Amino acid sequence: AKVDNPYQGAKGYVNPEWSSKAAAEPGGSKVAQQPTGVWLDRIAAIEGANGKMGLRDHLDTALQQANGGSLVVQLVIYNLPGRDCSALASNGELGPTEIDRYKTEYIDPIAAILADPKYANLRIVTTVEIDSLPNLVTNTGGRATATPECDVMKANGNYVKGVGYALNKLGDIGNVYNYVDAGHHGWIGWDDNFGPSADVFKQAATAEGATVNDVHGFITNTANYSPTKEPYFTINDSVGGRSVRESKWVDWNRYVDEQSFAQAFRDKLVSVGFSSSIGMLIDTSRNGWGGTARPTGPGPQTDVDSYVNGGKTDQRIHVGNWCNQKGAGLGERPTAAPAAGIDAYVWMKPPGESDGSSKEIPNDEGKGFDRMCDPTYTGNPRNNNNMSGALPDAPISGQWFSAQFQELLKNAYPAL
Ligand code: BGC
Repeated sequence: AKVDNPYQGAKGYVNPEWSSKAAAEPGGSKVAQQPTGVWLDRIAAIEGANGKMGLRDHLDTALQQANGGSLVVQLVIYNLPGRDCSALASNGELGPTEIDRYKTEYIDPIAAILADPKYANLRIVTTVEIDSLPNLVTNTGGRATATPECDVMKANGNYVKGVGYALNKLGDIGNVYNYVDAGHHGWIGWDDNFGPSADVFKQAATAEGATVNDVHGFITNTANYSPTKEPYFTINDSVGGRSVRESKWVDWNRYVDEQSFAQAFRDKLVSVGFSSSIGMLIDTSRNGWGGTARPTGPGPQTDVDSYVNGGKTDQRIHVGNWCNQKGAGLGERPTAAPAAGIDAYVWMKPPGESDGSSKEIPNDEGKGFDRMCDPTYTGNPRNNNNMSGALPDAPISGQWFSAQFQELLKNAYPAL
């Protein structure tokens, strides 16, 4: 039987490949023993792409690390047809219609390996399809933020079917814990997106034979930069009779940080039919925002914008910025059960791995060049036409980006 919180009382799997890259960086040994996510980001990753460890190699190493005790292995299921429909940096290998290949060449082989009785004592967390379902809500239809690619994936139903199929197959395995990706507060936290996202998650969780009981929980902020907690202001504050919701930064969102969002969204998900025992994960790999730019107290009470801008720790130019953010730091270290409704703070995105290239770089992974990763880009409707805030000279997504890793160490909060 599955435990309520797989992170409770368990160690986390340290990916030796990430760990050695982190340890090779000046100062990196301070974090190189932290558990991070293993991204199965293409079919070849199952067997091991380009000489890298495959899924069985990771699970065998996890058994050694467990040494008879409880250990959580964190996998990212990330290969939907038409992947990354609102951006280009993580476009993948499967075209929009290739749902059958997703099922038979990707999910089925992963499920077969995870079901091997040899691995039955590992606690295997699968975070399912980052950014996919939220894109169907916010980046489709008549909205200014819509993209033709997301419209296609909504119309053909292959995100919903793919997620349903994955949840059903993986959820059948007694020691696999599915956590569906739920975006982050700076995406789903607006009224127009909050309820509709919960509804799409329910739809996917009841597609292709899945049931809500195949969902153990949800993960927020995967590979994103939204702070866990804004210490110097809350959504209930106002200045001169004006709510912080009216500030330019908050812009009518209902949440100012991930923990308040994750807890409220958990309640919403339960209200639409998910189990009352679901738990949330928050990816804190890069949401620390320490360093010299971090404020040390609330902003001035002169007007609502000065108050929010002076007190917020999130140093992004806009909350819609997502690529290799300048000034970001490592966030909370991975921690089990840190708050009510939260199963763990996790480092699902391995710190130091790029979000996307700053210039076009030819590659054989299907990855495109998204100008949100170009520091000179002036934006699009999804970041309200702001500068991208990205670091320069980044390699394609998933590749090691030393300058970013150094920035994350320097701006870690809590400090290292
Ligand atoms: C990339 C993946 C990579 C992952 C973790 C994603 O943005 O598309 O290829 O494995 O990040 O770094």
